[in-house]
Amino acid sequence: IHTFIGTDDVDVEVQNVSAWYVNQAFAKHYSVGRVFCGGDAVHRHPPSSGLGSNTCIQDAFNLAWKLAFVIKDWAKADLLSSYSDERVPVGQQIVARANQSRMDYKHLKDVFGFDQGIATTHQLLDRLNAPTAEAAELRTQLNHALDIKNFEFNAQGVELNQRYQSAAVVLDDECDEQWHADPQLYLQATSRPGAKIPHCWLINAKNGQKVSTLDIVGNGKLTLVTGLSGTAWKKAADQLDLPYLNVVTIGQEVKDVYGIWQKTCEIAEAGMLLVRPDGYVAWRHQQALYDDRVALQKLTHVLEQMQYQIA
Ligand SMILES: Cc1cc2nc3c(=O)[nH]c(=O)nc-3n(C[C@H](O)[C@H](O)[C@H](O)COP(=O)(O)OP(=O)(O)OC[C@H]3O[C@@H](n4cnc5c(N)ncnc54)[C@H](O)[C@@H]3O)c2cc1C
Repeated sequence: IHTFIGTDDVDVEVQNVSAWYVNQAFAKHYSVGRVFCGGDAVHRHPPSSGLGSNTCIQDAFNLAWKLAFVIKDWAKADLLSSYSDERVPVGQQIVARANQSRMDYKHLKDVFGFDQGIATTHQLLDRLNAPTAEAAELRTQLNHALDIKNFEFNAQGVELNQRYQSAAVVLDDECDEQWHADPQLYLQATSRPGAKIPHCWLINAKNGQKVSTLDIVGNGKLTLVTGLSGTAWKKAADQLDLPYLNVVTIGQEVKDVYGIWQKTCEIAEAGMLLVRPDGYVAWRHQQALYDDRVALQKLTHVLEQMQYQIA
């Protein structure tokens, strides 16, 4: 402690010592009956990759809105079974990732030569900067070892590419997703059911302020996102008049002035996304639909399928 604070003028008294150790464990079920578990209680791993708190908060968010829906009688209790189905694979993935990130330090340790008598920064730099064939090989290995650490420090895909599969998500003629880059390293934004709605900047028509698509959904409700010509969907939602369903029309309350949403959303203007309170897409209708009766039929069917109360 004196070394850390830079002086030994301060009296230090150690009152307690607590051992912390690395875990590699995840639960295969997060709920049984009326008991629901989340957070470190169901996924334990080292801090490498920094995946702990956000995964715990996602567990809580996933469960909280579903509990609220059931308690308010907006959904049947069966909706709650999707909590475990959606979150177990995420827990499993981050436990494996965090432990792999910890083990990947081995490559750096080997290059640095800590177990070959290298003890100071000077010795380390001398070893790495030497004009020798051996040092040249070390420099190549160093770059390789640093590239591997991208999977710890720059792995946006691990954090954001979750694809939920459960009874609370309905796929609509979706083909298998094609990954265009490493799914652990790179975020692949998509409006596929089970994925988080892609972030795009829009403009709030009332106050002219920038607003993210992430913030036009949520607030404890489902959101039906459609475009100006998506009137059939708007009428269907109006007719159902459900206390838990908001409608956002891109081009009306919010404007796609940068045109980014149109390029990203993967749905026609008169198509629609049904987005859950946690920002994940529950269902989408990619093709334009102009028939009021069919839109009502489809929306009702899908809501019932996912255990939401209609009457
Ligand atoms: C060294 C270290 C570094 C970390 N770094 C990061 C990081 O960079 N990024 C990141 O996202 N995460 C990080 N984490 C992980 C993160 O801190 C945890 O994943 C997260 O705090 C777990 O939250 P939790 O609410 O599930 O559990 P906890 O925070 O452990 O909360 C559980 C609570 O329950 C209480 N409790 C236990 N038993 C009982 C009982 N019988 N009755 C009542 N209360 C009880 C405990 O006292 C505790 O307050 C790190 C963890 C460690 C140890």
